[in-house]
Amino acid sequence: MSSRVKIPEDGEPIVIQGGVWRVPNKPIILYIEGDGIGPEITNVAIKVINKAVEKAYGSSREIKWVKVYAGAEAEKVYGNRFPEETINLITKYRVVLKGPLETPIGGGWRSINVAIRMLLDAYANVRPVKYMPGLESPLKHPERVDLVIIRENTDDLYRGIEWSWDSPEAAKLRKFLREELKVDIEDDTGIGIKPISKYKTQRVARFAFKFAIENKRRSVTIMHKGNIMKYTEGAFREWAYEVALKEFREYVVTEEEVNTIYGGKVPPGKILVNDRIADNMFQQIITRPENYDVILAPNLNGDYISDAAGALIGDIGVLGGANVGDTGAMFEPVHGTAPKYAGKNVANPTGMIRAGELMLRFMGWREAADLIDKAIIEAIKQKKVTQDLARYMGVQPLGTKEFGDALIEIIDQLK
Ligand code: NAP
Repeated sequence: MSSRVKIPEDGEPIVIQGGVWRVPNKPIILYIEGDGIGPEITNVAIKVINKAVEKAYGSSREIKWVKVYAGAEAEKVYGNRFPEETINLITKYRVVLKGPLETPIGGGWRSINVAIRMLLDAYANVRPVKYMPGLESPLKHPERVDLVIIRENTDDLYRGIEWSWDSPEAAKLRKFLREELKVDIEDDTGIGIKPISKYKTQRVARFAFKFAIENKRRSVTIMHKGNIMKYTEGAFREWAYEVALKEFREYVVTEEEVNTIYGGKVPPGKILVNDRIADNMFQQIITRPENYDVILAPNLNGDYISDAAGALIGDIGVLGGANVGDTGAMFEPVHGTAPKYAGKNVANPTGMIRAGELMLRFMGWREAADLIDKAIIEAIKQKKVTQDLARYMGVQPLGTKEFGDALIEIIDQLK
């Protein structure tokens, strides 16, 4: 089949090697519109990102967007939800901005989101959660929430190594456990395996400490359930500390050192590294969110804490996330396809725009990212919002497109 995708001649690929990004002035970036509300929010997000880049750098920098197909649109065009051409282009160009894609529950096709993460070996899931004035948070002091959750993306129970209680595999494993390891488990027990490897833990820990240093964060808290799962979650804690103390010694200070050497105060310029047991971590981010900054977590805990942290600011619909590896990255909103709002010009594009902002930060285009951040905060302050926020602010909502136009106008006026 001939190619349906045209690569702009004056664009150049971004090269990411060993986690170091080399970004040309006219980088080629792939985008996938996504299903449901995806096309509307993606197109608005691209306009806002372009405006911020233009405002920050004039004509010296410009993103060369390339639309690639996945999901329902790809099914129509190629007869396949995740076509070969898209796979090849992602493998080549390595940076993707992606709208939400539908994944059926139970049967049907496998998650394309997961397939893209695997294709890029995007092992770190990054989700910044910061309160924006105007959102209806359940907290008394939501302005104290400024967290970044970094979740391991490839290991743990998410590897899907599990068998139903009545399968021959589970029977075999029960027999092995009983006879070889003297562990007795009931005959009606399903079995899942929780693998946590040193290599995968240490690469995501390294990512988290680098992220904290580069983004001038205050602390990295290792979240784990190591008191119960000693050799998986406990090992995660131990291996993460090892990275901090062997590879980032000059940048970090442990909680114990703060208490025994520095009189309870983190020395200026140092990043505090500490750890919390998962259940405690949940209550801590609710009761004392100001004490936490970057949270590094294994896959399953990371999944839970990401949404719980999102709930603290009142609306996970306005958050963006990144999936980043050493040689590629994919950026996406946290929410899904919201099918009931599809095609109605009512969806909130903020999560998608935040995903783009995060992409600009990884590219090192900080000035453009800051403009987007300021514009979103200003729009909410002016009560220029889509229906999801307008309904509890008691104001007239803007449509998806009109909200995008409002952001563009605000960016234009920003100093
Ligand atoms: P969802 O699409 O996030 O929608 C759930 C509800 O959240 C909506 O009904 C709406 O709430 C609100 N919402 C989400 N995004 C919104 C936006 N941009 N603007 C306004 N309101 C928004 O979750 P879901 O219904 O569980 O999932 C639907 C599909 O999305 C599934 O196929 C799922 O697999 C997929 N999904 C994909 C991704 C991804 O691509 N990474 C992530 C999550 C889910 P109200 O009804 O309260 O207005």
